[in-house]
Amino acid sequence: MEVIEVLRMKEGTGQTSYANNSLLQKQVINMTMPIAQAAIINVYCNMNPTTRTMCMADLGCSSGPNTLFVMYELVRTIYETRDKSGSQSLEFQVYLNDLPKNDFNTIFKSLSGSIEKMGTGLGPCFIMGAPGSFYGRLFPSKTLHFVYSSYSLMWLSQVPKGIENNKGNIYIGSTSPPSVIDAYYRQFKSDFNTFLNCRSEEVLSGGNMVLTILGRESEDQSSREGYYIWELLAMVLNQMVSEGIIEEGKMDTFNIPQYTPSPGEVKLEVEKEGSFIINSLEVSQVDWSASAKGFSTNPIRENEGYDLAECMRAVAEPMLANHFGESIIDNVFRRYSDILSDRMAKEDPKFYNVTIVMVKK
Ligand code: SAH
Repeated sequence: MEVIEVLRMKEGTGQTSYANNSLLQKQVINMTMPIAQAAIINVYCNMNPTTRTMCMADLGCSSGPNTLFVMYELVRTIYETRDKSGSQSLEFQVYLNDLPKNDFNTIFKSLSGSIEKMGTGLGPCFIMGAPGSFYGRLFPSKTLHFVYSSYSLMWLSQVPKGIENNKGNIYIGSTSPPSVIDAYYRQFKSDFNTFLNCRSEEVLSGGNMVLTILGRESEDQSSREGYYIWELLAMVLNQMVSEGIIEEGKMDTFNIPQYTPSPGEVKLEVEKEGSFIINSLEVSQVDWSASAKGFSTNPIRENEGYDLAECMRAVAEPMLANHFGESIIDNVFRRYSDILSDRMAKEDPKFYNVTIVMVKK
């Protein structure tokens, strides 16, 4: 499975699209926005006074309301700061990055409205697509003042090698052998190092990066915090194997290219790579129920887990359909919705977000 070919959020604006099922990710963006705002103000205040253009990038921007919301909020923050300080006008160059198969068309189609919005009261803001993997160079050297990324860097560049023994699991799971955890962690370290190396070329000295990564709070790699949501999806797939709907061999060869790091693991890689100084590192939590749309907007909502299952479907459907075929998808997510409802009624499960702010040396 080539990640670059199969990893993408569900395109379009239909019922099962990412655009329509990313409220949980939006809540994470909102929760961490004050951190990003403080960082971008810091960059603005320390910018060379002769600089007329601030360049920023959202890495793993996806497609949907979250994409433009982030950049709009950041640009607005600078305009408000500028109004207060009365300093000269500033133009913005905004790069929206994602993998080439991301639905950039939907973003660009919605742009005319938002450019006007940014134009009225704000100021010139030029938005550009930057398709490609953030595990490679994306921008010219020393051009970026600010890099933002939310819920993207837990995606790896590939499924780790050497995890053929991860039977019955689709990620790290409670029955995964230690060698599987090691393989996932090694892949994360290598990918995150490559990411930092590439960005260290592109970010100007004094530029900031604010990254929020779906991760863990616990430093224990076998903690359920990072993998619970996927373990429940694996339960569904195993159920379908036992009913003969999915071939066992198919299940055994499916693993997701993701790693949910702890704050300590993120810190270690930044320090080892050495191009950035860490300004802050914190963990926040978001309830699984943050994906809930409420009855009024979603009349067919059957149970507590339905909206979260739809949210996970928008994230995982292209990958699952590529491996198992389209025909099982509805069945998988019907079952997943029931399991999620059951767990959410009995427990209080959460996602853990690791947010790091760093400054380029
Ligand atoms: N930031 C958005 C989207 C998060 S979904 C939000 O918070 O709502 C994660 C996004 O990261 C997906 O669109 C996925 O395609 C993208 N992504 C994953 N790996 C990537 C890579 N190597 N390079 C660029 N984008 C990547």
